[in-house]
Amino acid sequence: MYEIRVGLGSCGIAAGGLEVYDELLKETQGMDVKVYPTGCVGMCYKEPLVDIIDEDGRTVTYGNVKPSMIKEIIKSHIMDGKPLLKWVVRDTEGEKKYDNYMDKQVKIVLRNCGQINPEDIEDYIKVGGYKAIQKALTMDPYDIIAEIKESGLRGRGGAGFPTWLKWKNTKEAPGNPKYIICNADEGDPGAFMDRSVLEGDPHSVLEGMMIAGYTIGAQEGIIYVRAEYPVAVKRLKIAIKQAKDRGYLGQNLYGTNFSFDIKIRQGAGAFVCGEETALIESLEGKRGMPRLKPPYPAYSGYMRKPTVINNVETLANIAWIVTNGGKRYSSYGTETSKGTKVFALTGKIKRGGLVEVPMGMTLREVIYDIGGGIKKDKKFKAVQLGGPSGGCIPESLLDTVVDYESLTKTGAIVGSGGMVVMDQDTCMVDTARFFMDFIVKESCGKCTQCRLGTRRMLDILDRICNGQGQEGDIELLEDLAHMVQSTALCGLGQTAPNPVLTTIRYFRDEYEAHIRDKK
Ligand code: SF4
Repeated sequence: MYEIRVGLGSCGIAAGGLEVYDELLKETQGMDVKVYPTGCVGMCYKEPLVDIIDEDGRTVTYGNVKPSMIKEIIKSHIMDGKPLLKWVVRDTEGEKKYDNYMDKQVKIVLRNCGQINPEDIEDYIKVGGYKAIQKALTMDPYDIIAEIKESGLRGRGGAGFPTWLKWKNTKEAPGNPKYIICNADEGDPGAFMDRSVLEGDPHSVLEGMMIAGYTIGAQEGIIYVRAEYPVAVKRLKIAIKQAKDRGYLGQNLYGTNFSFDIKIRQGAGAFVCGEETALIESLEGKRGMPRLKPPYPAYSGYMRKPTVINNVETLANIAWIVTNGGKRYSSYGTETSKGTKVFALTGKIKRGGLVEVPMGMTLREVIYDIGGGIKKDKKFKAVQLGGPSGGCIPESLLDTVVDYESLTKTGAIVGSGGMVVMDQDTCMVDTARFFMDFIVKESCGKCTQCRLGTRRMLDILDRICNGQGQEGDIELLEDLAHMVQSTALCGLGQTAPNPVLTTIRYFRDEYEAHIRDKK
């Protein structure tokens, strides 16, 4: 029997995957073929993708598939047993490689994305799903914390706080009940890592939450997900229902006295609600505005109770670590940044998509070896890392390795994983203006420094871009940036000046040319 899977993450659907899927169902009627949807395997630039898997496990992938191609593919590949090479982009047999996009990647978070049917719990179970929670339930919670500590896992939402410490603090904080929250409020322009994980492997996130819940002593988990992610929301709902029906979620799990439930809450699209305390306010039914810290959520979070907030990617690592051990996870990465990181590779890049690489890989490798370099072979100019909180890194720093410390030194941050590549035609002042405009719209307005400081910075960027810049504008921008950075209440404001500061630092001549030439 052949299996045929169709990439139906948002990227695949947007590229026409549903039409391809329907055509496949039609053309394989009556044949011994199983057709099913899967999530994004990462090769968004080749969507819609169709994998044909034979009984020996050989997987041949067709890219940029159109409904009109299906008849020919089925006839040649399924009926005549000959893959239709002209449309093949990958083939697992032997050394045949049509596309080296995957070669340098290490899949831990994305291990099941593009491999299993995210709407069928049996597929997740077949690849070892829900084994990690069963193993965890036989362990002392402090042994789980020790395993996570050994893994070196740090929060993948951007801040890079050690996950084990967050869990330990919450576990030991006085107060009950305790909560585990999954932050799926991914809002950076150009970032879609979390969405892809939820669309492609929702059960791995549920299992990560269950393990976290057992470890800290929580019985309730909440997933705060953007309402703008309808496919992710739908698959999460299906996953939770199937896990409950199968007895993998609910009361007295696996014959123990551990009970756990997960519910979904949808956010209305405010970027600031990705900030953990604003997210909690929103969950509590209030306007999403950050709280003063301390107290941290570990001590006073949701409903003022001890709460762990981890983002999607962090949680998707947990079951793998419990299964394979912290030591194996920490064998990837650098001295201080362990494991892998998922990036959304977008912008002027030949092969845009989702990549997962070991920490410590250089930006050059990610952009050129995996991403294939710059579109139309233009010259690379900069890469924006970490969205509006991040910074623009120039070509001279392309050999910087991807880890928390190295990227921070450049003025950028790892952030949640958005990586926007820009070419020679990009105006860096305009880029800074784009991000500042985003921040001004998304600032919650609670503190004056962020509300007015970013507004003033945008005014200055507007006039520079419009050819009305004045002498002293660059210095004024720098002064305002430092003021906002050092006085804003939350991370959104504190990091908002990063795109401006890094573009001034590395592309000051472009600011000066705008002001001098009045253009
Ligand atoms: Fe709101 Fe900005 Fe202040 Fe954060 S820094 S609380 S987003 S106004």
